[in-house]
Amino acid sequence: MSLLEISVLPGKGRCYIATTYIPVGTVIHVSEPLATTVSQEWTPETCLWCFDFAYPKKQKIKAVTEQDKIKLSNEWSVPKKNLAFKDMLFCSENCKLNCQNLLKSEWVPMLAIHYRLDCEFKNTCNVPTVKGPIELEFSKWIDINNDEALSAWLNNAWTCLTEDLDIYREVQNTDRSMCRLIAACILRKQNSKDYNLSPFQDLLVIQNNELSHFKTHFDSSLYPNHPQQLPLHCTKEVYLSMMPDDILDVMALYCFFARTLTKPLHKVPVLSDISHELFRSIFFRERANSFGLWEMSNDEVANASGGVSDDLELLGFGIYPSAVYFNHSCDANVIKVRDGRSMKFISRRMIDEGEEACISYGSVDDDVHNRRQRLLEHYHFLCQCIRCIQEDLIIR
Ligand SMILES: [Zn+2]
Ligand SMILES: [Zn+2]
Repeated sequence: MSLLEISVLPGKGRCYIATTYIPVGTVIHVSEPLATTVSQEWTPETCLWCFDFAYPKKQKIKAVTEQDKIKLSNEWSVPKKNLAFKDMLFCSENCKLNCQNLLKSEWVPMLAIHYRLDCEFKNTCNVPTVKGPIELEFSKWIDINNDEALSAWLNNAWTCLTEDLDIYREVQNTDRSMCRLIAACILRKQNSKDYNLSPFQDLLVIQNNELSHFKTHFDSSLYPNHPQQLPLHCTKEVYLSMMPDDILDVMALYCFFARTLTKPLHKVPVLSDISHELFRSIFFRERANSFGLWEMSNDEVANASGGVSDDLELLGFGIYPSAVYFNHSCDANVIKVRDGRSMKFISRRMIDEGEEACISYGSVDDDVHNRRQRLLEHYHFLCQCIRCIQEDLIIR
């Protein structure tokens, strides 16, 4: 019998509820990732599959053997010496096999994605942005709190602004890791013949934060006569002038992603089907729902607090669809502990039948004000956990 069931709590949405009494220290759930990525800076030392960290040594098993390189070099018309794949290393042949077995026919496309991202990655210049407000003659405005209208407006804005893939911003190492993670999700979508059974479907159960993200960043004082409103039909210039910087960054990342993976490059395979709709549907789920994959600690104190302490390195990120039902509490009854690439969820005190199982999203060491502020900015909710309510009362 499963120890957890998915339920719906008023005001909180979907959540995990204990189906029975659970003693402290019980593994109550194990989640496998839909996709993972290694942080760019740690690629030489980190196993691409199990996140074993060999620092200061490098991982030994290469994703691509000399023989593979000869074959790819012929197929792709790329000189063999260019096919380094320095950032795809494994701790063992077994990990490499597991990775290949998961990707199946998408293994070579995955190599192509890594190669293409490496080729394209360079610091690109800024394109000037247009600062609003621009004089408008619109008669029709939409309310940004109308989700359907906002959704359509954003869709139009994305189509208009990204159709030439020409928004350039500086691409950082973290962007590069993010691109690999999104590409890995798309490959999971492709390598299943029956789309409805594809593991990619699991991603879609995760809440998409795009609208709340936009509302958080949108400057509604731009047109004082139309607070909380957007002009219905815009030119490219107007979209550009109204778009929050944070979202222009995401658009620039999409342009980089699509340019890199679709433009002709010798005979290196392209990643087909990269619409902005697909990119956004992954990006805005990933952003608030991926877990950091941290270096494992031998220190029991660090492990007890979820395996995160100051001297451990962030080795990468993973998307764990079955874990999204763990809501946040600043006094969580569950901790997550990484086990290879899986995530184990363990009760840190006893949990009653019918009680909600919660984890903490990130560190909860801050005071109530800063904690709530961080959760609001990053996860778009005002924390109403018992600890926050109590600490808030004490301050007042
Ligand atoms: Zn490994
Ligand atoms: Zn709280």
